[in-house]
Amino acid sequence: MAKRTPKTKLAKKSGKQTATKGRAGTSRAGGRTKKYVYFFGSGKADGNRDMKDLLGGKGSGLAEMTNAGLPVPPGLTVSTDACTLYYEGGRKTPKAVDDQMIAGLKKLEQAAGATLGSPDNPLLVSVRSGAKFSMPGMMDTILNLGLNDASVEGLKRRTANGRFAFDSYRRFIQMFGNVVLEIKKETFEHQFDAVKASRRVKLDTDLDEAALKEVVERYKALVREKAGRGFPQDPLQQLRMARDAVFRSWQNPRAKEYRRIYEIPDHIGTAVNVQMMVFGNTGDQSATGVGFTRNPANGAKEFYGEFLVNAQGEDVVAGIRTPQPIRELESLMPAAYKQLRQITTRLERHYRDVQDFEFTIQDERLYMLQTRSGKRTGYAAVIIATDLVQEKLIKPRDALLLVDPEALSQLLAPIFDPGEWQKLKAVTRGLPASPGAASGQLVFTADHAVEWTQQGRQVVLVRKETVPDDIHGMFVAQGVLTATGGMTSHAAVVGRQMGKPSVVGAGELEINERTRTVKVGGQTLKEGDWLSFDGLSGEVKVGQVATQPSEILQVVSGQRPAKDSAIFQRFNRLLSWADQVRRLGIRANADQPDQAETAYAFGARGIGLCRTEHMFFGEGRIPIVQRMILADNEADRRTALGELLPLQRGDFYGVFKAMHGSPVTIRTIDPPLHEFLPKREDLMVEVAKLEATGGDETTLESKRSLLRRVEQLHEFNPMLGHRGVRLGITYPEITEMQTRAIIEAACMLAKEGVKCVPEIMIPLVGHVRELRDQAEIVHRVAAETMKAQGAKVKYLVGTMIEIPRGAVTADEIAGAAQFFSFGTNDLTQLTFGFSRDDIGKFLSVYQAKKILERDPFASLDVVGVGELVRMGVEKGRGARPDLKVGVCGEHGGDPASIHFFESVGLDYVSCSPYRVPVARLAAAQAALKVKVGD
Ligand code: PEP
Ligand code: MG
Repeated sequence: MAKRTPKTKLAKKSGKQTATKGRAGTSRAGGRTKKYVYFFGSGKADGNRDMKDLLGGKGSGLAEMTNAGLPVPPGLTVSTDACTLYYEGGRKTPKAVDDQMIAGLKKLEQAAGATLGSPDNPLLVSVRSGAKFSMPGMMDTILNLGLNDASVEGLKRRTANGRFAFDSYRRFIQMFGNVVLEIKKETFEHQFDAVKASRRVKLDTDLDEAALKEVVERYKALVREKAGRGFPQDPLQQLRMARDAVFRSWQNPRAKEYRRIYEIPDHIGTAVNVQMMVFGNTGDQSATGVGFTRNPANGAKEFYGEFLVNAQGEDVVAGIRTPQPIRELESLMPAAYKQLRQITTRLERHYRDVQDFEFTIQDERLYMLQTRSGKRTGYAAVIIATDLVQEKLIKPRDALLLVDPEALSQLLAPIFDPGEWQKLKAVTRGLPASPGAASGQLVFTADHAVEWTQQGRQVVLVRKETVPDDIHGMFVAQGVLTATGGMTSHAAVVGRQMGKPSVVGAGELEINERTRTVKVGGQTLKEGDWLSFDGLSGEVKVGQVATQPSEILQVVSGQRPAKDSAIFQRFNRLLSWADQVRRLGIRANADQPDQAETAYAFGARGIGLCRTEHMFFGEGRIPIVQRMILADNEADRRTALGELLPLQRGDFYGVFKAMHGSPVTIRTIDPPLHEFLPKREDLMVEVAKLEATGGDETTLESKRSLLRRVEQLHEFNPMLGHRGVRLGITYPEITEMQTRAIIEAACMLAKEGVKCVPEIMIPLVGHVRELRDQAEIVHRVAAETMKAQGAKVKYLVGTMIEIPRGAVTADEIAGAAQFFSFGTNDLTQLTFGFSRDDIGKFLSVYQAKKILERDPFASLDVVGVGELVRMGVEKGRGARPDLKVGVCGEHGGDPASIHFFESVGLDYVSCSPYRVPVARLAAAQAALKVKVGD
C-alpha cells in the first residue's frame, strides 16, 4: 500500500494544556472549578459540534444532536481532560472529576425519570469511549451498567419481561467482567455454553429466564473465583470502575497500534460517554443499526445501512450476525424508518457532509445514538465531494476539505486486468466493502499475514470476521476477505479507512482456522493458495490474477480518453478547484522525458529536480561514465565526457519539451563517483579468482586497474565525501559538459520555437565561494554555447540548500544564486546527524519510545530542520527579494510538510510524479489553513 491514508495532524490542543498543567487533582484554573463533565439531555446540551478536542467525536455529536432537538437518550460526557488527569495522577481519577460525574448523574436520573441501581425503577447506562478521532472498536464499552441483584428485579417488573432482564444482567456481568476485571471472555463463554448444553438448546435466544438466572449465578461465581471479589453491587462503584477502565483502554495494545498507523497523537486521550440505555433487544418491535447517508465504499447517493431486529448495538458492528440491509426496515417498522430518513437527511445538511450514524429502536420508538462524519474510501471521497457541490450543498472550496490528500493515492492503485479476471470463474461473492484489486496467498491469521509479508510474500487475509486485534495483519495484507459481517462490520470500516480492498460477509466460505483451510465452491483451499477478489464487485476467485493500472492512470498515460472515465473527470474537477485556491506552485522530481510527461499530465507545472546522475544509469551509459571516472588525466576525461554530452542533451531536450515551457531545474552531478563503479569487495574476489586460475592477462590487468581506482575513490563516509559541488570544483570539465548539454538542448528548442527555461542547480553548497566557482563556469560555458549555436535562451543559476551552513549563510549565498531549492533529505540527514540510509536500524525504537513521533525523512521536522528552512528563506530573500525558493526533498509530497512550506512562503514544492495530485490538494488545504483529518 502507498503511504497510509488517514491523516491526523498533531494539533496542539488549544487551551487544554494550560488548564491541565498541574498534577492530578488540580481542578482550579483562575480560581474557578474547571468543567470536566458535560451534560446532554432534554433538548439541551453543555457541549456542541466544535468541542471534539474536549468531548471526543461521539460526545460532541451527541451534544449537537441534542441541541438540534433530535431524539437522543440523555447522558453525560467526561472530558478528555479528565483522561489526561487520570494518567497524570498515576491512573487515578481525581475527586473533582468524580464529584462532577456524580452531580451529572443526578441530572441524568432526573431527565430519565429513573435511578441508577433502583429496585423499582432502575436506570441503566452505557459507558463508552470516544476520542477526537474515531478509532473503531479499539477501545472498550460497557452496556447495561447499573444492574445488580436488586435492580434486575426492578427491570423485570418494569418491562414485564424476566427473560430480557436476566439476559441484560448476564451480558453486563460478562462485559464488565471482561473489560473492567480483565477476566477472559472465553471463561464466560464456557459457562454459557455449559448452561445451553444442560438445557439442550442451540441458540442463545432459546434460553428461558430460569436458565439465564443460572447463567448469572455461574458468572458471579466465576468473578469471585477469578477476581477474588464479589461482583460489585454498588452502581456508583460500577460506574467509577467502568469509567476508569475506558480511560485505561486508551492504552491497550490495539489502540496504540491503531494510533501508530494513523498517526493519532498519544497525548490527547479519550472522553467517556455515560448515556441512558435504550434497548434494541426487547423483542421484535425493537432493532438496532448503523448507517451512512451515502455509500461509503463507492460514494453513490443512496441511503445505506444495516440493522438487526431484537439485538444490542455491539452485535451489528462485531460482525457476528450478518445484518439486514436498511431498506428492509421500511416494511418492518415504517414510522421509525421514515423518521430515521428525515433525521439523517437533516444531519447531512446540517454537517454538510456524509454522516455515519447509529440508532436504536425500542418498541418502535427511534433514538439516535451517534452521528459523525462518515469514513469513506478515497474513491468515494472524490465522488461525494463533487456530488455535494453539484447538489449545491457545499461550495468547491468546502469540497477541498472533504478529501484527505493521501486518499487520492488510493485512486492510483492497480485494478485487475479485465481479460485476466474474466478467465477465472467466481467461486463466491461477498459485500463489496472497499474497492480495489487484491491478489495474494491465503493466510488465516493477522500474525501470519505479517510474518509472510516480512518474507516478501504477497498475502490476502481471510477471516470469519476481523476483530480490532487483527489490525496489524490487515495493514500488511493486499486485501481482507471475511465470511460474516456487513458493510459496517469492523473489517469493512477499517478496510475502507485503510484503502485496503475488502470483501465482507462472503457467507459461503467455510473457514477452519485450526486446519488452516477454507471450503468454497466445492474446493478446499489451504494456507498459501492463491486467491483474488475485487473490492468493487465483491467477486472472489481462486488463483493469481494480473493487475493493470488504475483507470485514472490509464487516462493520464493516454490509453483511455478522459471522456470515458467518470472518476477521472471528477478527480480532475476537484484538483482544478484546488488549483484555484492554492498559492504554492507544484513541480515534480523527474529525470526522464516519460516521467516528466506523467508529471505534467498529473498537473505539475515545472520540474523541481532533475537528477542528472540518474541519466548516467541509462542503457549503455555506465561504461562511458566509468571511462570518465577511470581517466587519470583531464584529456581522457574530456573524451569520455564528449561521448556523454549528446546523450545528456537528448534527455534534456525530451524533458524540456514535456514541460511545455514550464521551468525545469537541472542539477549538476551529485553522488560520489564510486556509486558508478563495481563494489570493491566484488572486484577483489574477481581479481583473486583470475589470479588463482591463471585467467586472461588483459582482463586481469583491467580489473586490477579498476580495483586501484575504486580503492582511490573509497571513502569512509561517502555521504559526507567527494560529492555534489565538490565534484564540480575538482573536475570542472563535468560542470562544463553538463552546462553545454543543457544550453544546447535549450537552443535547439528555441530554434524550433518551443519555450523552455532551464534552471541550473548546484548541489551541496555550504559556502558561497563554492557556488561562485561553479556559477562562473556555467555562465562562461552558457555564453560560449549560445554563441556557437547562434541562439539566445534565458536560464537561471541557483543552488540547493541542503547543508546547514548553507541555510545559516543563505544571505551570502543568495548573492550568487537566482534561486534556492531546499534539499530536505540531506538537510535532515545533516541537521540530525542521522544517516538517511541507516536510520531504519533505530527509528522504530525512537518511535516506540516517543523520541520521534514520525520519520523525519518522510515528514519534515518542523522544529529543527524547519527552522533552518525558515532561516534560509528569510535570509535569502533579505539579500535578494526576488529569490525563487522551492523544496525538492521527499517532504515536498508530504501533506503535513506542505502546510509548513506554505507557512514559510516557499514558491513551490516538488515531489515525485505520482504524488503531484496529493500535493495539489494539500497545497490548497494549506492555503485554506485547514489540515484535513483534524
Ligand atoms: C535532498 O537532499 O533533499 C535532495 C533532493 O537531493 P538527493 O535526495 O538527491 O540527495
Ligand atoms: Mg541532496
